Amino acid sequence: MPLSKRCEEWLGQISLYLDGELAEHLCRELERHLEECPDCHVVFNTTRRTIELYRQYGRVSMPGEARERLFRTLNLEDLLRDESGSG
Ligand SMILES: [Zn+2]
Repeated sequence: MPLSKRCEEWLGQISLYLDGELAEHLCRELERHLEECPDCHVVFNTTRRTIELYRQYGRVSMPGEARERLFRTLNLEDLLRDESGSG
């Protein structure tokens, strides 16, 4: 069955979905796609867990070094780079 979007496009929508910024009809489409597509499902779960962790630890004020180590352990260095802004 033809999908309305490619996996690549859906993967770009996942973070919007998790932020609650994705239009409702697209949420439904994405949910349906995740049921049919194991690849996207894995990425979705990983992204969700990552965002949850990031939010959880983002609120706590941790020493920079400890946080950096944590993020490196979790392979979240991209987020660190994002956060620093002026790099
Ligand atoms: Zn897919």
